[in-house]
Amino acid sequence: MRRYRYVGPPELARSIASSPYRHRIQKPEDVEQWVRQSQSSRFDPEEWIATFIIDTEGQLWIADRNSEHVQCALGQDVLSAGEMTFGRERQKITVIEVTNQSTGYCPEPDSWESIQAALDRAGIDHPSEFTTAYSFRRCESCQTINLIKDDVYECAVCQSALPLAWNIDDPLL
Ligand SMILES: [Zn+2]
Repeated sequence: MRRYRYVGPPELARSIASSPYRHRIQKPEDVEQWVRQSQSSRFDPEEWIATFIIDTEGQLWIADRNSEHVQCALGQDVLSAGEMTFGRERQKITVIEVTNQSTGYCPEPDSWESIQAALDRAGIDHPSEFTTAYSFRRCESCQTINLIKDDVYECAVCQSALPLAWNIDDPLL
């Protein structure tokens, strides 16, 4: 499985010492405990959105949705990253939505496999794939990381054509 290294702004990686609370999810009760401990009034009582990462051991970690993925990962490589929405179905904690939206790691849609494995191990029901999947490409002219929308492979900054193949981890040109 592909490992993704952090490619976002270095100043965010340097703020790891001030990392927000993160929580390892190994069973449904861990999600409830996280909700209680995060004590955030921003949480909708029926739905909780978290920043998540899958570490290179395949472990699922979640943190407040306003935290950076690189903080949730303590600066380490990940197998996937994005946003996860939890809810309750018939009194059971369930994952309702998962996206791979992480401009810090830019994981590919096929990183889903690592998420599925972690949630299955934890006994938490989940969708069969990303509910919203993104693709990221680095502009080879200006180095900007673009989020591909509507299959338009054009840099939003300099309008250069973007490569079709994932190139986020390529050495800078
Ligand atoms: Zn560009």
